[in-house]
Amino acid sequence: METSTAINLLHHKKIAIVGGGPGGLTLARLLQLKGVDVKVYERDFSQASRVQGAIIDLHFDSGLKVIEAAGLLEEFKANYMRGADKYRLLDPKGNILLDDGNQSGATSFGDEKFRPEIDRGALRDILIAALYPDTVIWDSQFLTMQQVGQGWELHFKNGTIATADIVIGSDGYRSQIRPYVTDVKAKYSGATIIQGEIDHPETACPEMYELVDQANLMAMGAGATIAVQPRGDGGLTFYVASMYPENWGATSGIDFNDAEAVHSYLADRFKDWSPVFFSLLEACGQFVLRPLNYFPIDQRWETKANLTLIGDAAHLMPPNGEGVNLAMLDALDLSECLTDPKFSELQEAISAYEKIMFERSADLCRETIEGIADFASPNEESVEELIRMLAGDE
Ligand SMILES: Cc1cc2nc3c(=O)[nH]c(=O)nc-3n(C[C@H](O)[C@H](O)[C@H](O)COP(=O)(O)OP(=O)(O)OC[C@H]3O[C@@H](n4cnc5c(N)ncnc54)[C@H](O)[C@@H]3O)c2cc1C
Repeated sequence: METSTAINLLHHKKIAIVGGGPGGLTLARLLQLKGVDVKVYERDFSQASRVQGAIIDLHFDSGLKVIEAAGLLEEFKANYMRGADKYRLLDPKGNILLDDGNQSGATSFGDEKFRPEIDRGALRDILIAALYPDTVIWDSQFLTMQQVGQGWELHFKNGTIATADIVIGSDGYRSQIRPYVTDVKAKYSGATIIQGEIDHPETACPEMYELVDQANLMAMGAGATIAVQPRGDGGLTFYVASMYPENWGATSGIDFNDAEAVHSYLADRFKDWSPVFFSLLEACGQFVLRPLNYFPIDQRWETKANLTLIGDAAHLMPPNGEGVNLAMLDALDLSECLTDPKFSELQEAISAYEKIMFERSADLCRETIEGIADFASPNEESVEELIRMLAGDE
């Protein structure tokens, strides 16, 4: 790896990044390119210990821009899923409303509207391969930390302790670092997702497998959205979204650890929908309930001297196709601020990053919350609007 010399504020400083998701790993790569001493402490036992979920699309002016800044565009091009940026939209009866829409017709890198999809695991592998060996310390679930002198002493569940001069929390939506930065808590958006994975859809739900055909499939109407996405390993991930009261998981009387109980709820909930959807849901043996939460749009905190947050830990919002892109942009902006010679104090550099991050995420979060019912409880009008958007008419 070609690096420039660690300069100014980060000279002889050790940085601990807690959380090895797209945000944390990107930040580690960008800082290592500048010669900075950085470790990533990740809760997962190993690189292969967890399915990373479905595909994500990177955008020209965010995720792809960062991939380029990280010097990884060729690796990305070798691993992205060609054609997976296509959308297939269905109604609850299984009629296809839109086929092969991709919002722009763009199919090549360099085109501002091109949004190539990549398997989350593949993106993670690319980022890890670009780091110095042993940068990621696996099996490091962060528990607590305390200030020691000018720095931090971090304690992990496996009993290990690490020290660092600067700590960056990139540990996602239930961040354990966040309480050291702010006590602002997440709010419920009104929508909840039931998520499932199908490892062998070609045999478990062949009709749905054919319908998906490596595209993003969405069935919308009658107060629900079922979204199905291909995974890089041939499996499928699906999300069933609806508006539910807060704490619905606890009050619904459904045991979400009992697949049969969930099947029975879904069979009733989707009894008026085409059976092809229930064949998908029935093929799933384990469900995850995800209430969609967000951090308040106007949240602010007092900048800390040697501690900050990026990605979901900083600005959780309901899924809007931007989360990974935002986390990567945070990584780029933070790496640039921390190494910008115009700042003479670390706190000043962190404050400059936080200002950019707050403004950018607030705008997107506002739009997402305003549109949450269109996504989770669509009606004819919202579906028509989505068709126009995916067809590239808006
Ligand atoms: C259902 C759903 C669908 C989505 N679809 C999309 C999409 O299509 N496109 C898109 O851009 N975004 C999507 N998002 C949002 C996206 O997943 C997040 O915004 C993005 O992953 C945030 O990246 P991050 O690096 O901040 O955090 P994360 O990806 O959450 O990574 C956090 C990392 O920290 C680790 N960790 C957690 N706690 C600890 C701890 N205590 N100690 C050490 N490590 C810890 C975790 O294991 C994980 O590796 C979706 C989200 C959901 C819920």
